[in-house]
Amino acid sequence: MSIALSGPELRLQETARRFVDELIPWEVEAEMNRGELPPDVAKAHSERAAELGLISINMPESMGGPGYTTMEQTLIQEQTGRVTNALGWVVSTGPSWIADVATDHQVERWIRPTVDGEIHECYAITEAGAGSDVDGIEATARRDGEEYVLDGEKWHVTSANLASYVFFQAKLVDGPNAGRHVLFFVDIDAPGVECVRVPEYSHTYGHHHWEMRFSGVRVPKENLVGSEGDGMSFSHAWFRYERLMIAARCCGAAERLIEEANSFANQRQAYGSVIADYQAIQTMLADSLTELWAARLMTYETARSIDVGADVKVQHARCSMAKLYASEMANRVADRAVQVFGGRGFMRENVAERFYRELRVDRIWEGTSEIQRIIIADQLRKRGPGPLIG
Ligand SMILES: Cc1cc2nc3c(=O)[nH]c(=O)nc-3n(C[C@H](O)[C@H](O)[C@H](O)COP(=O)(O)OP(=O)(O)OC[C@H]3O[C@@H](n4cnc5c(N)ncnc54)[C@H](O)[C@@H]3O)c2cc1C
Repeated sequence: MSIALSGPELRLQETARRFVDELIPWEVEAEMNRGELPPDVAKAHSERAAELGLISINMPESMGGPGYTTMEQTLIQEQTGRVTNALGWVVSTGPSWIADVATDHQVERWIRPTVDGEIHECYAITEAGAGSDVDGIEATARRDGEEYVLDGEKWHVTSANLASYVFFQAKLVDGPNAGRHVLFFVDIDAPGVECVRVPEYSHTYGHHHWEMRFSGVRVPKENLVGSEGDGMSFSHAWFRYERLMIAARCCGAAERLIEEANSFANQRQAYGSVIADYQAIQTMLADSLTELWAARLMTYETARSIDVGADVKVQHARCSMAKLYASEMANRVADRAVQVFGGRGFMRENVAERFYRELRVDRIWEGTSEIQRIIIADQLRKRGPGPLIG
């Protein structure tokens, strides 16, 4: 079984593939320079992405975005997964979930400039004491007249160094909705917002993950996203979307790794023959390709089912299954690719080494593999397997 792609889908996939092929030659320079590229090169990549219709790819036309289907976004993201060092993140994905609730003020102030690629956002949900268990957050929001006062410390805030504003999730401390979650737009340079630390992570990305402190940050009530108590539902919508896109990027990474390892195995000589002649090597490549195909079918099928309006709980379970399987698959493929490359696979200039480190976090962020299994098992108990896998 293969998922048939339409003419426009194939053309979009090809456009994204060619663009990513332009980024790949910059990987090693980024790796050796803390994830950074020369500013003129980075700017040229952003402009090229915009020219090709590859920015804000998840934003609806009503917000000034391209209005791509989920399947089209999946195909694009799969291609961006083929490049290391997050160079593919130049294909931006704004807060698409906000389209239904953003006020005119919020659209004009933050969303339209984001869609146009002029400013960027980041998300501050996780805390030192609360990651998987989002409801355990201790950040607070207190209503004070026409304002809210925000306090809390957040961890792992991705892209904070490049962002103009942050979505800050907290719990209300008083009023009729006390204890419920709220989400706010907060300008990153607002008084009381500070970067506490810029920790080092396994990957070498120009996007940093700040530890942030919010101390008595005053925001007007117009910065509240939706209504008091809505905070968690927005985060769930984002998790669902991003889990599918992680699955897509993992498929792209695995494809690149298989291509590179296969090419190397067919020219590397050992004991008088290319190593691709040896069954131990063939097994690693064959298992990798087989698992990639399975992951891709799940990912594409999930995207298609979302586009035809699958029940939102079924979508949730399928996105979890796709992320779980594709991220675990890509990590196995990266491990095998390092092995096929031998000593070269342990060098930072080698794509397998970089992906071996970079793909590890796909089993952790946007819900760990353990959390995905809990979601899937919960839906299985409630619905049985039929509605979930057809
Ligand atoms: C590079 C990076 C970037 C990130 N970017 C962001 C960001 O931009 N914004 C943001 O808000 N967050 C971000 N995160 C946070 C990320 O979403 C969390 O790390 C993740 O959800 C896991 O939370 P935790 O690290 O607190 O682990 P914990 O929740 O403490 O989990 C620790 C371990 O316990 C397991 N576990 C927890 N509960 C259960 C259970 N019920 N059953 C079985 N096992 C369980 C987990 O699977 C894990 O193995 C980022 C993280 C990383 C590493």
